[in-house]
Amino acid sequence: MRMEYRRLGSAGLKVSALSLGSWVTYGPQVNVDSAAAMIKAAYDRGVNFLDNAEAYAAGKSEEIMGAALRKLGLRRESYIVSSKFFWGLNDGPNQKNTLNRKYLMQAVDGSLKRFGLDFIDLAFCHRPDPETPIEEVVWAMSDVIASGKALYWGTSMWSAEQIREAWEIADRRNLRKPQMEQPQYNLLDRDKVEKEYARLYEGIGLGLTTWSPLASGVLSAKYAKGVPAGSRLSLPGYERLKGMVLKPESVKAASDVAALAAEIGATASQLAIAWCARDERVSTVITGASRPEQLEENLKSLDFLPKLSPEFLARVDEAVKPAMGIVAD
Ligand code: NDP
Repeated sequence: MRMEYRRLGSAGLKVSALSLGSWVTYGPQVNVDSAAAMIKAAYDRGVNFLDNAEAYAAGKSEEIMGAALRKLGLRRESYIVSSKFFWGLNDGPNQKNTLNRKYLMQAVDGSLKRFGLDFIDLAFCHRPDPETPIEEVVWAMSDVIASGKALYWGTSMWSAEQIREAWEIADRRNLRKPQMEQPQYNLLDRDKVEKEYARLYEGIGLGLTTWSPLASGVLSAKYAKGVPAGSRLSLPGYERLKGMVLKPESVKAASDVAALAAEIGATASQLAIAWCARDERVSTVITGASRPEQLEENLKSLDFLPKLSPEFLARVDEAVKPAMGIVAD
């Protein structure tokens, strides 16, 4: 497989069309050694973007990724690393569920410390904050960029209206503009990417780093005969997620996707990931893997892009239609 690189919206920065995230996996399922092995395997296949967040495993995910990167000794110029801020690590006012200036400034510092890095490449506001004025958020994120602690900033799961407002404030005040958004995007949840943000791609040059291409593993079709031991939806603490994504409709859709995938020589996971990457507005599809075999399989997904003819895609749409929208966040 040849990796493809895409610009992050209007930015000059190029991200690999497939990237690797750490949610759920780093900490509960993946330690420093296995993280290093999987990062190396992905990097050797051209993956240049690693996604993370302050809240993942309460900060442990950043520590594990930082330690794995040190272990591998990769050139800092050759990879892009992100973090995301909103939920916080401590209780109390200004420490959780906020994007106020005080929280953001200290949260970015905390993240750099846990990673052991001088800067992160991408800093995301992990969710919108209804209480902090968008102007304050833009001002704080612009200062984070100006300080050199992050190179680009963006949002995750904001509404198109909120993103547009942030961009316009930055434009008016000559501050750094939000460059990218991180929405969920998969066969079962398409609305934000395909409808809600449609005017922002040309309009403000928005880039996309999309998440959960397999709807937390459901689209791999492995839940057809129940919940496999050790899988994400078997983990304690993820009962709510399980309730959201594991439904008769999604399991049936995954089985039908697997049957269609077999026609083009792909697995269900490979088809589901290739489907996300087929949309050029998606700068990178952030994949997740708890084991090296999954990563190996998923990294071959781009090989199937040429096989996604309009007729084939129409059949895929038909197969997943009854389950569409049911995994929305
Ligand atoms: P996926 O939907 O692809 O789910 C990944 C999980 O599915 C793996 O950890 C594994 O779980 C299972 N899996 C992966 N490949 C296979 C395979 N080939 N066969 C069988 N099972 C497989 O992606 P994520 O939900 O992990 O999202 C990707 C990344 O996006 C995250 O790591 C995170 O960085 C980011 N993200 C961002 C969010 C945001 O709010 N901004 C929210 C969620 C994710 P297991 O083996 O345990 O079953």
